[in-house]
Amino acid sequence: MASEKSMTSPPLLPNVRVGFGYDVHRLVTDRALILGGVEIPYKLGLAGHSDADVLTHAIMDALLGAAGKGDIGGLFPDTDPLYKDISSLKLLSQVADIIRDASWVISNIDITLVAQAPKIAPYIGKMKTRIAAVCNLSISQVNIKATTTEGLGFVGVGEGIAAYAVCLLMEDIPDAG
Ligand SMILES: [Zn+2]
Repeated sequence: MASEKSMTSPPLLPNVRVGFGYDVHRLVTDRALILGGVEIPYKLGLAGHSDADVLTHAIMDALLGAAGKGDIGGLFPDTDPLYKDISSLKLLSQVADIIRDASWVISNIDITLVAQAPKIAPYIGKMKTRIAAVCNLSISQVNIKATTTEGLGFVGVGEGIAAYAVCLLMEDIPDAG
């Protein structure tokens, strides 16, 4: 059926979906600061039921959003003791399984972390490596940028850290071979 048509038509574009995620956590004392699965030495850490890895949470919501699978609050309720202090990379691994089971492959993930302090740049390589490993991606498919808010707003005064993430999913079409 496609043989004649394919001679004249452009190749079919893959089915793709974009997803967006946003998360904020409050900075508090007596908590480790975990971002992208990496512990960063700092006087404050993020408050939350899990390890409060705001960057990884934004990624999960982007992936779930693209696949039409809701959000992490629905998937991993913060009332469930199972997720108390859990590594968010473990949750990301479960989300990656959900994406794969729904016949999507991740094309890329792009993240902007918004924090006034500490300096994030020295840890970005390690974060990318860990996220790529959990999602079964190459490092080039994961991009992390960090910015400040020039001292403005809740991030600027150091009350919290925010993260934004977008991702692109492509339909996983089994090779007809
Ligand atoms: Zn969160």
